[in-house]
Amino acid sequence: GLANKLQETLKKLRGSGKLSEKDVKEAMREVKMALLEADVNFKVVKDFIAKVTERAVGHEVMESLTPGQQVIKIVNDELTQLMGSTQSKIVFSPKPPTIIMMVGLQGAGKTTTCGKLALNLKKQGKNPLLVACDIYRPAAIKQLNVVANQVEVDFFTIGDKAKPVDICKAAVEHAVKSGNDVLIIDTAGRLHINEELMDELIEIKENIKPTEIMLVVDSMTGQDAVNVAESFNEKLGLDGIILTKLDGDTRGGSALSIKAVTGKPIKFAGMGEKMTDLEPFYPDRMASRILGMGDVLSLIEKAQASIDEKKARELEKKIRTQQFTFEDFLDQLQQMKNMGPLSQIVDMIPGMNASKLKGMEIDDKELIKVEAIINSMTKKERLDPSIINGSRRKRIAMGSGTTIQDVNRVIKNFEQTRKMMKQFADMEKGIKKGKKKL
Ligand code: GDP
Ligand code: MG
Repeated sequence: GLANKLQETLKKLRGSGKLSEKDVKEAMREVKMALLEADVNFKVVKDFIAKVTERAVGHEVMESLTPGQQVIKIVNDELTQLMGSTQSKIVFSPKPPTIIMMVGLQGAGKTTTCGKLALNLKKQGKNPLLVACDIYRPAAIKQLNVVANQVEVDFFTIGDKAKPVDICKAAVEHAVKSGNDVLIIDTAGRLHINEELMDELIEIKENIKPTEIMLVVDSMTGQDAVNVAESFNEKLGLDGIILTKLDGDTRGGSALSIKAVTGKPIKFAGMGEKMTDLEPFYPDRMASRILGMGDVLSLIEKAQASIDEKKARELEKKIRTQQFTFEDFLDQLQQMKNMGPLSQIVDMIPGMNASKLKGMEIDDKELIKVEAIINSMTKKERLDPSIINGSRRKRIAMGSGTTIQDVNRVIKNFEQTRKMMKQFADMEKGIKKGKKKL
């Protein structure tokens, strides 16, 4: 994937001391190839490389002590810039209800994302109403109804005989009466963009004046996703984009091109089929993830959703100050069950990805072993692993029904992970402050 390619190229720079202009240009050629292979829009790649090269061959970089790392920082900066710099949030109407109109082609993930978004907004204290406007696809209304029940939010339909625009008008009236402060409208898609679809959407837009028109687009379709976004934006005008199926998008090209081509921000990313699999889109974190530096903050946020906020903040602090102990680790193992599939979590840990773990025995059975080993430690040992000497290791192995080798491995892995987490947390902080250290 793109992450691996870029990592390889940039690793060569990371190691070297002084850089020549030739070194930088060569690296940029490889970055360019990696981006094109990832299906990033050609013009976007050209502009990107020009910008990075211009900054990277400057005196400041070439004459600094760590030119390679400076170049990597520039690549990271520009990737972030490309995707919109800062996180773009949903805009709520100052005069409720807020109307969010979901548009997109058939199969993009509109109906699913309506449910995910409703859940997200519900967690923010909103009272959303899901509105069924796909009157063409058999069972589309039923599908939205099921989704609404799943996330326990209100649902509105008047069947498939009314016109979509009339359904919307009735839904707004209903929302006002029943105290729904957000409407999420699930519109019909088509296999391809056509006039009939656009006319229908334009009619809804003109009549109910949505607060946000949100395009739902399938990231796995690469360049097509970008073209679809461009067309919708020209004909309808968009306020934001939700990129779905990013969990299955191995290339990442659409995430990188779509903002640059349309000028419209990606507001959320769909990361799976479950209702909880929607994440706010953070350009800086996405850039770090593409560069393979892991994503400490996303990991923490994921934890936050299942643990409480205060606990997560403590955890973040502990990681930064390297006070993360076995006690915390055990806590994390237990919380993990609520956090989703292991592979997804592992992807977010710096320096790790699921593919790297293939062939290693980190499966759920391994986790049970790790848990047993930590459980056999005394509290004192958990808080200060440095006291775990030979005889203690033997006792722990006996107690957990494992071997001393198992115990050694867990302790060693833990120490390494802790160090790595700290490094990456520092790095992330460094990038944010624009420090030279990367
Ligand atoms: P619609 O036609 O635009 O309403 O699309 P649907 O909501 O019916 O979704 C089409 C398919 O894509 C369904 O099987 C969804 O489960 C799946 N899907 C939607 N979003 C995601 C996502 O973020 N990740 C994955 N893996 N699948 C998704
Ligand atoms: Mg649908």
